[in-house]
Amino acid sequence: MLKEYHIGIDDTDSHEGMCTTYLATLLVNTLEKYEVDFLDFPRLVRLNPNIPYKTRGNGSVSISFITTAHKIDEIWEECINLVRIHSDIKAPNTDPGLVLLVGKPDSTIKKVYQDALFSVISIKRMKDILNKEFKGRFFNIKKGRGLIGASAAIGVDLQSDYTFEFIAYRDPDIKTSKRAIDKQSVIMADKSIDLSFGNFDYAHNQLMIAPHGPDPVYVGIRGESVKSVIDMWCKIRIQETMKDLMIFRSNQHTGPHFPKEFRGNEIKPYYSVKVRGRVDSNPYLIEGGHVLFPMVSNGESINCAAYEPTKKFRSIVRELVKGDDIIVYGGVRPASDKYPITINLEHFEVQNLKQHSSRIPLKCPQCNSPLKSLGLNQGFRCKRCEYEINEKKLGYQPKKRGLYSGIRYTVPICAQRHLTKPILRDTIRQFYVPSKIQFKMEFKEFLSIRKDLVEKTAI
Ligand code: ATP
Repeated sequence: MLKEYHIGIDDTDSHEGMCTTYLATLLVNTLEKYEVDFLDFPRLVRLNPNIPYKTRGNGSVSISFITTAHKIDEIWEECINLVRIHSDIKAPNTDPGLVLLVGKPDSTIKKVYQDALFSVISIKRMKDILNKEFKGRFFNIKKGRGLIGASAAIGVDLQSDYTFEFIAYRDPDIKTSKRAIDKQSVIMADKSIDLSFGNFDYAHNQLMIAPHGPDPVYVGIRGESVKSVIDMWCKIRIQETMKDLMIFRSNQHTGPHFPKEFRGNEIKPYYSVKVRGRVDSNPYLIEGGHVLFPMVSNGESINCAAYEPTKKFRSIVRELVKGDDIIVYGGVRPASDKYPITINLEHFEVQNLKQHSSRIPLKCPQCNSPLKSLGLNQGFRCKRCEYEINEKKLGYQPKKRGLYSGIRYTVPICAQRHLTKPILRDTIRQFYVPSKIQFKMEFKEFLSIRKDLVEKTAI
């Protein structure tokens, strides 16, 4: 009998190597041998970016397919073997989790995803759900923290917004941090393909598609459509031989991690929060290049920070002044010896700007040079032509602000989290991406050309 299955995997890698998406690619290769009917692209699901247990980008993966019930025992054994072989279990913080759901994801598993986007889920709560309410199997090594991400990946919601990531893998035994890629070819390709984004940070001259760790990911190319990421791949000049590649459908850059508004007194360490409040004093620069300011929300004072890696975003934050009404979005850092609980800003939205006045320097009506005061209420004299005027006081005028109400200001590409929604994406999706796409068919097509794309000649 044919049945629908969903596999979730997480927490297989470490800072020393491997990557959960690579393991998922090996899993797709295995499932192809079993001739399953894939229902979608594999999903690369990013979760709360402020989780302290993460290795890099808090990513997990799920794969959905239909197959006959008699194949599933063997498939499950193969999955377990792959996780055993390809997880870096010696690393102290690697706790692999593998989950297999039979049938469609229900509201419980969907809620795990929604919660995992912004809050912190305990291993106990996750195991309780899997033991009592779950129609399927699960497997874990060590503590099994990976069961959280693996389950959340199955419950992912990619109905209304999603992106694609094309990942090319080098041999996983190569552990160097450098990837040989022709930077100029990436810039040229990026400029000619509208629906691929985040490839290059022009403001900071940084190549964004290549990671710097010892993992097998050679490049990750992001885009709104399958065609855009494949076109990008075909246009960039690579200088190494590839082992494999995969396209994932993803919640990356859709900004789902701020689903609800928190009041100042409700924020908790490691949560992703959206908080409305009033700037309580002008932002200031501290050692290390970080910019801080206090904000009051619901009577509670909260520290907000634009850290040094957010680069030019810090100067935008410094345009805020005491009294501005804003909504901030960011990750909550627990209090330290030096600093109170702090929101690490990802973006902010201006609700209302405080009217600010500044003194108008008086100018000579004859020669436009500055005027000098002759003492209290005694008028002014031009420093250059000595023209005198009888004005008693200097005037005031509203100060021009460097910010606009109703605008969302966000960190630059080089400082964006995987989930951060770039401002540009709003328009792109609205006008250029068809709403009804058969992911199942598109994935099948991609699998049929995958071998040719892997064999793209290294230059
Ligand atoms: P990579 O991006 O390279 O795959 P990673 O950054 O995803 O690595 P993991 O090694 O997967 O990091 O570690 C993240 C761990 O945090 C996983 O065990 C995952 O299950 C767990 N986790 C993810 N989201 C939450 C959450 N909201 N609450 C509690 N635990 C979570």
